Amino acid sequence: MKILVCIKQVPDSAQIRVHPVTNTIMRQGVPTIINPYDLFSLEEALRLRDKFGGEVTVLTMGPPMAADSLRKALAIGADRAVLLTDRFFAGADTLATTYALAQAIRKIQQTWGELDIVFTGKQTIDGDTAQVGPGVAKRLDLLQLTYVAKIEECDPEKREIVIERRAEGGVQVLKTKLPCLVAMLEGTNEVRRGTINDSLRAARAEIVTWSAKDAEIEDLSKCGLKGSPTIVKKVFAPKARTERAAFVEPGVTANDSAEAVLAAIFKRHPSLEEDMTKLVSGF
Ligand SMILES: Cc1cc2nc3c(=O)[nH]c(=O)nc-3n(C[C@H](O)[C@H](O)[C@H](O)COP(=O)(O)OP(=O)(O)OC[C@H]3O[C@@H](n4cnc5c(N)ncnc54)[C@H](O)[C@@H]3O)c2cc1C
Repeated sequence: MKILVCIKQVPDSAQIRVHPVTNTIMRQGVPTIINPYDLFSLEEALRLRDKFGGEVTVLTMGPPMAADSLRKALAIGADRAVLLTDRFFAGADTLATTYALAQAIRKIQQTWGELDIVFTGKQTIDGDTAQVGPGVAKRLDLLQLTYVAKIEECDPEKREIVIERRAEGGVQVLKTKLPCLVAMLEGTNEVRRGTINDSLRAARAEIVTWSAKDAEIEDLSKCGLKGSPTIVKKVFAPKARTERAAFVEPGVTANDSAEAVLAAIFKRHPSLEEDMTKLVSGF
C-alpha cells in the first residue's frame, strides 16, 4: 500500500507561555514536537504497511526546522519524508495550507505513484481548527473519514476499508472505498519507538525538500498570507477564574462518606444510577 501521513511540527503546548503584554505565544526556547494526533496516524499507517507491504511517506509544510520532525518520523519507521518549505507559504491560514498540501500530495503521487490512504490527525494542538484534513480531502476529491478511532479492516485488493469513528452518543462503523483520507483521533494506538536500524537510517536519510516551484504550485496568490482570507482580530489570554467549586447536591457536605454522597446524588437523579450500573457491568 502507498500511504501518506501529514504531520505538523508544533510547539510543546505543555511549555508554551503567553506574552503578558502582546498576548502572543512566546515560541522562543519552546521545544517542538510532532503534533500528537499525527503520531497516532503514523502508527496506524505503519501497521498497514507492515501487514500489506508498501511504503509510508510523511509530509509537512513548515519552516526548514520542521525537518527535525520529519527525521523523527523516519526514526519511528516512515520510509520517506517530504518537507514543503518556501517563504511564499508564510502566514498561511487553513485555506492556504490545504491548497499547498493538496498540490504537494498531487506531486507526490506523480513522483512515487497513486496513494491508497492519506492520513491526518484530527487537529493540531496549536492551531486546533481541525480543518486541514477535511480541506485536503475536498481539494483532492477524496472520500473522508473523520474522528476515526480504529481501523477495523482494510482490503487493498478489494479496495475497501472499514473503520470505527466516534460519533455523538456512540460509535459508527463505516465501510468505504480506497483511496480515502483518514483523520485519526487521540489515544487510538500505542506509538512504536522504532528500531535502531530505523534511527540509523533516519540519521542518514535525505529529506526531500520542495519549494513551491519544485512542488509545481503555480498559483502563488493562493499560498501564504496572500491566499489567506482569515484575519486574527484579537488575541487574549483568558482571565484566571477565582470562583471556588460549589456543592451541587443540597444536604451533602464534604464530611459525608462517598457512599452517602452517591446515595444523595442517585436519589436526585435516579436514571444516573441505572446508567452507571450498566456502564460498570459492561452493557
Ligand atoms: C492569518 C493567519 C496567519 C497564520 N500564519 C501562520 C504562520 O505564519 N506560521 C504558522 O506556522 N502558522 C500560521 N498560522 C496558523 C496556520 O493557519 C495553521 O497552523 C495551519 O493552517 C494548520 O491549521 P491547524 O493547525 O488548525 O491544523 P488542523 O486542521 O487542526 O490540523 C489537522 C491535521 O492536518 C495536518 N496538518 C495541519 N497543518 C499541517 C502542515 N503545516 N503540514 C502538514 N500537515 C498539516 C496534520 O495532520 C494535523 O493533525 C496562521 C493562521 C492564520 C489564521
